[in-house]
Amino acid sequence: MKILVTGGTGYIGSHTVVELQNRGHEVIIIDNLSNSYSTVVDQIEKITGKRPVFEVFDLTDKAKTAAFFQQNSDLDGIIHFAAYKAVGESVEKPLKYYRNNLESLLNILDGMQEYKIPSLVFSSSCTVYGEPDELPVSEAAPIKPATSPYGNTKQISEEIIRDTAANSSFNAILLRYFNPIGAHESALIGELPIGVPNNLIPYITQTAAGIREQLSVFGDDYDTPDGTAIRDYIHVTDLAKAHIAALERMAHKKSKEKVEAFNVGTGNGYSVLEVIRAFEKSTGEKLNYKIAPRRAGDVEKVWSETTLANNELGWKAEKNIEEMMASAWKWQLALEKK
Ligand code: UDP
Repeated sequence: MKILVTGGTGYIGSHTVVELQNRGHEVIIIDNLSNSYSTVVDQIEKITGKRPVFEVFDLTDKAKTAAFFQQNSDLDGIIHFAAYKAVGESVEKPLKYYRNNLESLLNILDGMQEYKIPSLVFSSSCTVYGEPDELPVSEAAPIKPATSPYGNTKQISEEIIRDTAANSSFNAILLRYFNPIGAHESALIGELPIGVPNNLIPYITQTAAGIREQLSVFGDDYDTPDGTAIRDYIHVTDLAKAHIAALERMAHKKSKEKVEAFNVGTGNGYSVLEVIRAFEKSTGEKLNYKIAPRRAGDVEKVWSETTLANNELGWKAEKNIEEMMASAWKWQLALEKK
């Protein structure tokens, strides 16, 4: 299949391009390089032996996006990653987030409608469940009011896709990611946090590498066995493979509804302290950390019900928490060499 991957030089996008090319699909990347580097394309070529087509422009540019679709009206599918994703920044600059994340989606949907492109995979997030009432959280759980403009763009995007698909020829699959971590086994691609990382795993690896002095564990008074917050961490390569399964489901006409949503997690929850222990065990590094106050806006615990994705997509996460930590550490060491 000929697949457009928006945001294809980003963290999850680049890993997905690798898996698509490994499966023999033809890939076109569009990225504005706002949070990634063009050298990622060289790395993808090194891993797969194939260079994806790469176009640099901003998908909020209506004219450029329309011109792209005119020239590529034979696309078999689109995986739409391109979006801003920093929760804290979205609180400070909501319009930046609404404009970017929603306008790019609208322009893509225009192109899909006009040229009858059959399939869309959309990057959604478990943030749509907020603090779930039942765990593990299933796709049938209620969507909770968003706690940040970022989270709201994911909820609104899901609604826009549902409304548009209802009256168009395309199918869509919304993939609700839990916490993606780790890097490709080659350590040629991975997450490139700019500045001080917000996320736990890059903060851990940078602390172990001596770039940060100490990790703060945000809160040890949650209602969890050790008091620290629980998440469902998933290896980025496993996550990437879910996108291929989603595209192939639509291509083989296996969708049961025009728009389907699937959780993409492992089904296992780990507390912050358990993650630290898994990191120490798998790498042999000792981590300097302290307990700090809770971080505003954090949910207490969330992990995924995976039955639907396992059964319907025929997909299952394979890597365990220690493999995830080892791969994150290998990537950190590779980054330092660069
Ligand atoms: N966390 C932490 N210290 C950090 C960064 C994160 O204790 O420096 C905790 C955070 O409070 C949450 C978990 O690690 O409970 C995962 O946070 P992350 O930002 O990676 O992902 P989120 O679940 O917030 O999207």
